[in-house]
Amino acid sequence: MSWSQPHHSEELSVQMTILVGSAIRLLGGLAGVFVLANEAFDPQSSSEYTLYQLLEEEAALLLSHIRERAQPGPARPLVVDPLPSSLTAQLSMANSLFEDEGTPTRLPALERCSVFVADPAGAVGVLHYLRFASLLTPLVTAGEGQSLVSAQLAAGLRAALRAQTLVKEQQRLGAIFEQSAEGILSVDVALRILDFNPAMERLTGWHEHEVVGRFYGEVLRPKDRQGHELGLQGSPILQAFAGQRVVEREMMIVARDGQQFSVSVNASCIFSAHGEPTIGILTMRDITRERAQEEQRSTFISVISHELQTPIAIIKGYASTLARSDAVLNPEALHIRLKAVEEEADRLNALVGNLLYASRIQAGGLHMEITPLDLAPLIERVVQRMRVRVPEAVITLDLPAHLPTVLADRERITEVLQNLLENARKYSPGQAQITAACRAMADEVIVSISDRGMGIALREQESIFERFQRADQATQSTIQGAGLGLYICRAIVEAHGGRIWVESTLHSGSTFSFSLPREEKAQLPMVVF
Ligand code: ADP
Repeated sequence: MSWSQPHHSEELSVQMTILVGSAIRLLGGLAGVFVLANEAFDPQSSSEYTLYQLLEEEAALLLSHIRERAQPGPARPLVVDPLPSSLTAQLSMANSLFEDEGTPTRLPALERCSVFVADPAGAVGVLHYLRFASLLTPLVTAGEGQSLVSAQLAAGLRAALRAQTLVKEQQRLGAIFEQSAEGILSVDVALRILDFNPAMERLTGWHEHEVVGRFYGEVLRPKDRQGHELGLQGSPILQAFAGQRVVEREMMIVARDGQQFSVSVNASCIFSAHGEPTIGILTMRDITRERAQEEQRSTFISVISHELQTPIAIIKGYASTLARSDAVLNPEALHIRLKAVEEEADRLNALVGNLLYASRIQAGGLHMEITPLDLAPLIERVVQRMRVRVPEAVITLDLPAHLPTVLADRERITEVLQNLLENARKYSPGQAQITAACRAMADEVIVSISDRGMGIALREQESIFERFQRADQATQSTIQGAGLGLYICRAIVEAHGGRIWVESTLHSGSTFSFSLPREEKAQLPMVVF
C-alpha cells in the first residue's frame, strides 16, 4: 500500500544540502547554513537548517553571532560582514584550511555573506555562507550573478519543500489510515481493492495482501439488513461514484470465517479534474454491539414489565376479592389468599432486589468480605433450608469427607448456591431431583448443582449468563424469571477469581458448576469487576 508507508524525508534533506552546497560553491563560499523562513519570516524563530561543510554546533554559533547583526531582507537582499577571528578560531573548517596552508601563524580572514532568498511566492529563507574576506569572484561582483544564484536556489528549494510537505501529508494520512478504529478500504473504478487498513483486517479477518486487486464485493459479500445479497445496483461505492452521498448506511458483511455481522458504512469518492470518479472510499464500523444493546434494552423492558405485572395482577385480584363487602370466607380460605398475596409481594421484593443488585454490579463493584470458608457445612445448611421450603423436591448431597477451605464471602456464596438450587427446582417440571456436589482440585474447589429438568440448548449455554437472557425453553413455558440470577452469580464468582459454567442436554437436565480458589492457592480476590 503506497500511502501508509511514505518515503523517508531523508532523501529530501540530501537534496536540499546539494542545492545549498552548489549555491555556496557558485558564490565562491567555503561553508554555510541555510535557514528556512517560517511564514512570518522571522529568522529568530526559524529552526530548520541545511548545513554545508559546518558542524551543527558551529552553525548554531555562527547563527547566534549573525542574529545580533544586520539581516538581509526584501529591501536589502545581501549583507556582508567580517567574521571576528575569535569565531573563526572555533570553526573546524577554518582550522583545516589553516592546516592545509601549513602557515602556523595566522588564521584566514573570513567574512559571512547573508543572502535573502525569495521567489514570487515569498521568502524561502536566508543563505548565510562564509568566504575569504575580499575574495570577489566574478559571479559575485556582478550583482545579477548574485541574484541569479539566489533565484535558482529559491526555485530548487521551493520544489524540494513542496515535495517535503507532500511527504509529511502522506505520512499524516498514512498514520490516520493505519490507526483509524474504523475500517477503511479504497477501490478503483472497476471496484478492485487498492487499500485495506488494519482496522479492516481486524473486522474481516482478511489480510491486505490477500485482497488487494480483488473485487470488493467478492471479499466483503455485502448484504442488506434483511440479509439479501446487495447487487451492484445497491453497492454503496457505485452510489458514491454516481455522486450520491452514502452516510451511516447499515448493512451486513461476511468475514473470512463466514461470520456475518452488521456494519455502518460511509462511502465517498475522489473525482479527477475532469469530474470523473477515480477512487472510491468505503469506511465501516462494526455495530453488532450497538444492535445487541438495543436488543437487550427491549428485552429488559418486556421481561421486567411482564415480571412486575404478574405479581401485581395476582395481588390486586386477591385484594379485590377480599375487599368485596359480600365476600364470605372461612378462615382457611382467607389464609390461603393472604398467603398468596404475601408470596407475590415477596416475589416483587426479590425482583426489585435483584434489579438493584444487577445495577450495582453494572456500576462497578460489590463490597465483599473475604474470609476462609468451609464449603461443606454451608452447602448442607442451604440445602436443608430448601428441603424445608420445598419438601417435594428430592435433594441429594455428594460431599467428600475432607474439603479444603476456600477464600470467599459467605453471604455472597450463599446467594449463588440459593440461586442455582432454586433454578434447578424451578426448571424441573414435575418432581425436582437435584444433586449438590463438591470436589477438590489442585488449585480450586468445584461446586456443582445438577438437575434432571428441561435442560438448555447448546447455543444458549453462554448467553444465559448475560443480563435478562433466558433460554427459549424457559420463555416458552409458564415458568417466570427475569434472567438476572445467573448474571449475578457469575459476577459474584468472578469477583472471587473463580469461574461458572453449565453443562446441559436439552430435555435431560443441567449441571451448573462454579469454582472457588483454595485458600492456600488464592490470589487476592478482585473486588471490582
Ligand atoms: P431466571 O431464572 O430468573 O430467568 P436466571 O438468570 O437465573 O434467570 O437464568 C437465566 C436462564 O437460564 C433461565 O431463564 C433459564 O432459561 C436458564 N436456566 C437457568 N437455570 C436452569 C436450569 N437449572 N435448567 C434449565 N434452564 C436453566
